[in-house]
Amino acid sequence: MDIKTFRNYGHRFVDWIADFYENIESYPVLSPLKPGEVKKKLPLSPPIEGEEMGRIFDDFQKIILPGVTHWQHPSFFAYFPANSSMPSVLAEMLTASLGAQCMVWQTSPAGTELEEVVMEWLRKMIGLPEGFTGVIQDTASTATLCALLCARERSTGFSVNSRGFYPDKEAQRLAVYTSTEAHSSIEKGVKIAGFGRENLRFIPVDEEFRMIPEELEKAIEKDRAEGVTPCCVIAALGTTSSLALDPLRAIGEITRREGVWLHVDAAMAGSAAILPEKRYIMDGAELCDSFVFNPHKWLFTNFDCSAFFVRDPGHLVRTFSINPEYLKTSVDMEVKNFRDWGIQLGRRFRALKLWFVIRSFGVKGLQEKIREHIRIAEEFAGWVREDPRFELVAPVSLNLVCFRYNPAGSKLSEDELERINRELLEELNLSGKLFLTHTKLAGKYTLRLCTGQTSTSLKHVREAWERIRTARAISAM
Ligand code: PLP
Repeated sequence: MDIKTFRNYGHRFVDWIADFYENIESYPVLSPLKPGEVKKKLPLSPPIEGEEMGRIFDDFQKIILPGVTHWQHPSFFAYFPANSSMPSVLAEMLTASLGAQCMVWQTSPAGTELEEVVMEWLRKMIGLPEGFTGVIQDTASTATLCALLCARERSTGFSVNSRGFYPDKEAQRLAVYTSTEAHSSIEKGVKIAGFGRENLRFIPVDEEFRMIPEELEKAIEKDRAEGVTPCCVIAALGTTSSLALDPLRAIGEITRREGVWLHVDAAMAGSAAILPEKRYIMDGAELCDSFVFNPHKWLFTNFDCSAFFVRDPGHLVRTFSINPEYLKTSVDMEVKNFRDWGIQLGRRFRALKLWFVIRSFGVKGLQEKIREHIRIAEEFAGWVREDPRFELVAPVSLNLVCFRYNPAGSKLSEDELERINRELLEELNLSGKLFLTHTKLAGKYTLRLCTGQTSTSLKHVREAWERIRTARAISAM
């Protein structure tokens, strides 16, 4: 492609993106396609001759776009959001254009130094104390894996890195603790880091789905009595199913006393800590060894961008650093080389989009958006509470409402309730007008509505409630 064609299509694409955002509500939120429908429209072999950009773009619109679920649609209430914003998209265009690798300082000094600065901004914004240092990871799953690897190395005097695990030796059995409501990335990390799934302890939760610190204490005690070394606790600041907030202070006091690594998974809820009135959620966070939250979930920065903070980066460097001759530079003693702060060598210039987003919104603008998301979730919860045909299944701590159809005084069994709520969910999602997902809480099939999409407003939540309350699946009940 020559520069003239690039310029031409570049302008067209930006216009297309602007139209897309302007008209996003006309797209179905959940792609209506059936499995295999995209693939059958694509050739089995790659083109031998290069194709004209106009044809490729046409196919993008005809074949690809119908197969996209629209995460940027304001009526996307499913899972947790992966929200974005125009400043972030613009910055991402520049990142792609620069194509810079941010693995060591020399490979892009601005990449490293901007990352240091924006992570320090974020640390202050969420109220983590001075002394924590940040690095951007691709996802919370990766950050949690890094934390597990550091915890493993600290517990074993960095010997697993050098000698490997010796599972036959009881002294090398290391246990990890998390709640029964914790995210699946923790179990995955435990498997990858070599702890063995049978050494992952799922600690029971209370009636609000928060880890019970006394149960954690008991599990640690039991392991010690059996010769297993307690290594790492992963607390959830906002569980995936219900945004339950584990009691960080009580957990942190235990981990401090026991000399166990504490990692906090605040993937979704961490963004709420930028609000002074929600800062209480961070109570006890100063006791952790590492902390992760995702600007790519709820801070208007397009995927991927995960903010990972550690109390002592020395653990990261000792765990991950390998120093081949071809990567050495003359300034290594003076600078941070982020390749030593995580798993990957090559690193995208993710700091740029965070910088654009924080500067463009300002802290105040970000706070206003998040505050509004929480306010409209509370409003929605109020409608659920007032309608005798529905119930809230978990407390509403921030911007997630867990609810289900369950008429007051009805004698419906759990199986019947599950069937009706499944049908309700399917009907809503098939409409293309909104997208919700489900979970199970204490065995109850539950619908989740999360208000974190960048352009979601009260109007969208009101429309969603109208559709839910008048759905066919429950109209005959
Ligand atoms: N932790 C929690 C609490 C989550 O809800 C999620 C994803 O929704 C994750 C971790 C994983 O996030 P990521 O996709 O960034 O790995």
